[in-house]
Amino acid sequence: MFLTLKKGATKSQLEHLRKKINGLGFRAHISKGAKKIVVGVIGENAILVRDTFESMEIVDFITPISKPYKLASREFKKEDTIINVNGIKIGGKQIVVMAGPCSVEKKDLLIKIAREIKKAGARILRGGAFKPRTSPYSFQGLGEKGLKYLAAAKKITGLSIVTEAMTIEQVKIVEKYSDIIQIGARNVQNFDLLKAVGKSRKPVLLKRGIATTVKEFLMSAEYIMSQGNCNIILCERGIRTFEQSTRFTLDLNAVPVIKRLSHLPIIIDPSHGTGVRDYVAPLSKAAIAVGADGLMIEVHSKPEEALSDGPQSLLPKDFFSLMEELKKVAYAVGREI
Ligand code: PEP
Ligand code: MN
Repeated sequence: MFLTLKKGATKSQLEHLRKKINGLGFRAHISKGAKKIVVGVIGENAILVRDTFESMEIVDFITPISKPYKLASREFKKEDTIINVNGIKIGGKQIVVMAGPCSVEKKDLLIKIAREIKKAGARILRGGAFKPRTSPYSFQGLGEKGLKYLAAAKKITGLSIVTEAMTIEQVKIVEKYSDIIQIGARNVQNFDLLKAVGKSRKPVLLKRGIATTVKEFLMSAEYIMSQGNCNIILCERGIRTFEQSTRFTLDLNAVPVIKRLSHLPIIIDPSHGTGVRDYVAPLSKAAIAVGADGLMIEVHSKPEEALSDGPQSLLPKDFFSLMEELKKVAYAVGREI
């Protein structure tokens, strides 16, 4: 449940309230808006202690949250959350495009790709240094060396960086080199990892798992938020269905569904969602039309030589033309790129 406070609540009243909430075994989540202060009482069955707060002087009214995810729910926060990454606003009018190779490979190649995606209008460079591969014999990523290459590309181009952390131990180092920590589809329910990034101050890009319902996905976001990090960008990247003609089935339904249930921004990854280069452009357009806040697209100058996901990577020139087309779609739905 959350408590909307009366105007003029003092610091010491707020502190008293926080102690009261903690004393009852719950977590207090205080959000100070321009007009009012809202305090979330977070924990299981918080509603059972409703009476305690009902009689408090500073509490104006109490709103129960019916959903199992609390901080992530639209009931808790009506306005869309906008995540600020070095001045890039994700979740607002602008569609933010993240692009780059699946894996960080050679330094020069990464910088070349970074320059091209920037020219095309992407704002954030993606690239994995720690790779969650299905086979232990496939390329596992360059590790810290890859993170250093990403940092070099950032220095040259000014692009912000998103890259994946697969384990709790990797969180610290990924945090050091990146602007957004990516949690991959396979780790969406690695609850200890979610708690670890929940303690970070860096925004988190949380990918939906291949067999995760929207409700479970939002519960994973809640895990991160429960630790204090509310800067989460959700990413739909395709789920597993009976369909075999694409790598996964991109669940575009998830966009309006999540927009209704949550205030968090949601972006679409059509590269993993389809696994096929030719389908990336149509699904990118559809994603914007359906209301996504951004896209994550794999781009590689030599897809045939890529160490991972070459078949779904766009050539820079095709990415460039796609961005031109996406501008028109964005305009048509009242957004911009
Ligand atoms: C990726 O973005 O590089 C990746 C591995 O994606 P996913 O976790 O969605 O498979
Ligand atoms: Mn990939």
